[in-house]
Amino acid sequence: METTLRGVGVSHGVAIGEVRHMGTAVLEPPAKQIPADEAPREQARARQAVEAVANDLIARGNLAGGEAQAVLEAQALMAQDPELVADVERRIAVGSSAERAVYDAFASYRALLANAGEYLAGRVADLDDVRNRIVARLLGVPMPGVPDSDEPYVLIARDLAPADTALLDPSLVLGFVTEEGGPTSHSAILARALGVPAVVALPGATELVEGTVVAVDGSTGDIYVDPDKDRRAELAKAAEERRAALAATSGPGATSDGHKVPLLANVGGPADVEAAVKAGAEGVGLFRTEFLFLDDSKNAPSEEMQVEAYRQVLEAFPEGRVVVRVLDAGADKPLEFLTPADEPNPALGVRGLRTLLAHPDVLHTQLRALATAAEGLPVYLEVMAPMVADRVDAKAFADACRAAGLHAKFGAMVEIPSAALRARSILQEVEFLSLGTNDLAQYTFAADRQIGSVSRLQDPWQPALLDLVAAAADAARAEGKSCGVCGEAASDPLLACVLTGLGVTSLSMGAASIPYVRATLAKYTLAQCERAAAAARATDTADEARRAAQAVLSGE
Ligand code: PEP
Ligand code: MG
Repeated sequence: METTLRGVGVSHGVAIGEVRHMGTAVLEPPAKQIPADEAPREQARARQAVEAVANDLIARGNLAGGEAQAVLEAQALMAQDPELVADVERRIAVGSSAERAVYDAFASYRALLANAGEYLAGRVADLDDVRNRIVARLLGVPMPGVPDSDEPYVLIARDLAPADTALLDPSLVLGFVTEEGGPTSHSAILARALGVPAVVALPGATELVEGTVVAVDGSTGDIYVDPDKDRRAELAKAAEERRAALAATSGPGATSDGHKVPLLANVGGPADVEAAVKAGAEGVGLFRTEFLFLDDSKNAPSEEMQVEAYRQVLEAFPEGRVVVRVLDAGADKPLEFLTPADEPNPALGVRGLRTLLAHPDVLHTQLRALATAAEGLPVYLEVMAPMVADRVDAKAFADACRAAGLHAKFGAMVEIPSAALRARSILQEVEFLSLGTNDLAQYTFAADRQIGSVSRLQDPWQPALLDLVAAAADAARAEGKSCGVCGEAASDPLLACVLTGLGVTSLSMGAASIPYVRATLAKYTLAQCERAAAAARATDTADEARRAAQAVLSGE
């Protein structure tokens, strides 16, 4: 029978399909002793699990082909290493359970590898993955990481980190549902980038049984478990109507009376460019370059690799504007070689621009790569720093850009309340502002963007957040400079009108949201947007702000 659950809808559209779980990290199995007469059975269980995992890795290698096949086959060999298997059996003979024996045998092998020079140390992550697979199999829990499925599915996860999502095959993911995360979490951002429906902050999401059919409505936040025939038909009809309405929109972003608001795309790398161009993006308002740094947890990508990736994005927007954000490492986007491991509160620690100023070589290489990539292209390159707190930060970044010989506009992201409050002072050093409303909400409300239980405070309709947006936009207007929004707030069509009314000069969002925002903005005049913005700011809660803006715009 159909049941309904409700979370927070963060990416429009409807997906219907079977659920598959993102495997969570494998926990350490308890070190309980088993009776001696159970040892042979445990040893057989361990051998079977090793065999099954090795066969699965080989089968997946055959499917993948190329470089991936070589890696998967090497992992299969690791799993079957005779010394390792003998060590597992020895440990079981003296009383370990199969899962504990595997866990411990891999730990001692891992320590050997980790101390054995650079090449072998680099294999430690692969070894850990093999161990996790064998232990998960023995414990009867889902395999860690991205589901192994050849059929499209609805992905269920506690939350998704950028490193997990880099491995997802977009052609298989129909939609996302997560237990944690708010509207600005990486799960939500990724769903919008892929253009798939998503619901976050759904309590109990991870208890949905693997294989259950769900219908995910990413606009309302509703999840229909085992949807009946009528529900499926109703959702399919609504989705079709929406597609038809969106297909009718095109051209640059503007209000109905012609006030231009360029609609730009948020991208994570060259792979996102096609969707951005297709959606009619007028450029890129946020290139999150940290995705290029996720492939190798130990090193930054080489300057040549960076040049290549930046050039591919820049070439896609001839005559257009491309705003590149320099590496934003730390907190929700940790990088092993840059992010301090021992900070008690990473969101308030060395992250974003602070990390880059502590590693000037990484910043310099990135800026030089950008300068090289833009050479000879008719593109308007703009480069901005994440997590700018004050004028000192803004000056340090502008100095670094000049030192790298970059011919571009330099800008600052406004993600910390201090930057919004003192935006005019920051604008003495840089030429534009870009509001990162995701982090700005996190820091304004002291509400971690990764935690579902505080998602109420991550709502970008919060009037206090609107006040800070207004402060930054007013400062930019007074200085004759631009102030865009590249946080997720820009992808909410109604809020996009309010942001326009607050004086924001461009809106950047995941490509899939552009048609929705374009269509809504085109319905109202600038004066209506300004009135909606004033009405929203005059309220006390996010819900009231939303209703007030809606009432103004619908002429109630
Ligand atoms: C933001 O914080 O709003 C932003 C755009 O950056 P990110 O989401 O990548 O932290
Ligand atoms: Mg941010």
